[in-house]
Amino acid sequence: MSGKRVPLIWQIGIGFILGILAGIIGGDKVKIVEPIGQIFLTLLKMLIVPLVFSSLVVGAASIGDPRDLGRIGIKTIGLYLVTTAVAIVIGLALGNIMQPGVGLTLSEGATAFKAPEAPDIKSVILGLFPSNPIKAAADGVMLQIIVFALFLGVSAVLAGEKGKPLIAFFDSLAEAMYKLTGMVMMLAPYGVFALIAVTVSKYGLSVLAPFAKVIFAVYLGCFLHAAIVYSGLIILFVKRSPLWFFRGIWEASLTAFVTRSSSATLPITMQNTQTNLGISEKVTSFVLPLGATINMDGTALYQGVCALFVAQAYGMPLPLTAQVTILLTATLASIGTAGVPGAGLIMLTLVLTAVGLPLEGAALVAGIDAVLDMARTSINVTGDSAVAAVVAAWEGEKL
Ligand code: ASP
Repeated sequence: MSGKRVPLIWQIGIGFILGILAGIIGGDKVKIVEPIGQIFLTLLKMLIVPLVFSSLVVGAASIGDPRDLGRIGIKTIGLYLVTTAVAIVIGLALGNIMQPGVGLTLSEGATAFKAPEAPDIKSVILGLFPSNPIKAAADGVMLQIIVFALFLGVSAVLAGEKGKPLIAFFDSLAEAMYKLTGMVMMLAPYGVFALIAVTVSKYGLSVLAPFAKVIFAVYLGCFLHAAIVYSGLIILFVKRSPLWFFRGIWEASLTAFVTRSSSATLPITMQNTQTNLGISEKVTSFVLPLGATINMDGTALYQGVCALFVAQAYGMPLPLTAQVTILLTATLASIGTAGVPGAGLIMLTLVLTAVGLPLEGAALVAGIDAVLDMARTSINVTGDSAVAAVVAAWEGEKL
């Protein structure tokens, strides 16, 4: 042995592969490692609010001019919407071509599902503003935290000399939080091992086999979206190789895969994009927390595939107009999906309702949803990072 440490990125990969093996071989016994996964997840969640808040105050202060902030905001949201719409089109195309629901025997007695209320625009806009920022932080309401941090950062600049200590304080807090993120990431190989082992042990082949086609369609769609859309964005606008990009955010993509939570992965996404891709705190602190909340390409793609899957399973063909409705509702539904495990399934009911499909269709997917959630969350996080890289390049950063 040379005594050199194996790089973390490899350790995480090894943890992942060993976890899959342990899940297959160990069966139920792998339950004993479950707490390790839980601790890893809890520590990641612990980082989110102080990390996002402090780095965003500093980021907003470094941008300073509210007009510049607005410009970055428009670019970011525009890119988020376009990539999400493309993802749904890919999902719908695969659903039409592969016909994953055809020939499926419907299981009786599926659990009843209730569709959530579609959020109306007024309450969405009102909901952006916290009446009590401390409560927003305590409840982890990300959009309100983002809005308050932006206000505070800009105000600190406007306060001139007197605002400087405040910015310095948050700068120092952000630095400490980055260090802490690095420490939590040391646990990642073990956390990843435990999380994937437990997931694999829960899903035997017998559970997955009848759904092989829909699983394949979602995974293929996610792969194509990354390979075509994200690679294209990186080549066209960042002028770097896609390999550089995917290698740089690999830890975040894998962590998203096993945790099934964009929010929980956020600290690692921020670390990866800053350290490995060299994107500034100014861009990452704004683009990524927003993305973890509203940009869900994988979820949108999954909703496209699953809507068609349900339609086919129930023998209710969807005309083109209905598929356009899916494009619109799945965009909104994915924006409204929280970055936590399984949230996309709840929002799928919204899409099904919009085109008159039975809600029980969601129950059909529920049994295998975790497996689909892994791929879509990974793409959600990868998509946020790709947009961060493009926005950084547009802002003149040299990556
Ligand atoms: N688990 C996903 C995420 O955190 C959301 C979803 O369920 O689609 O990004």
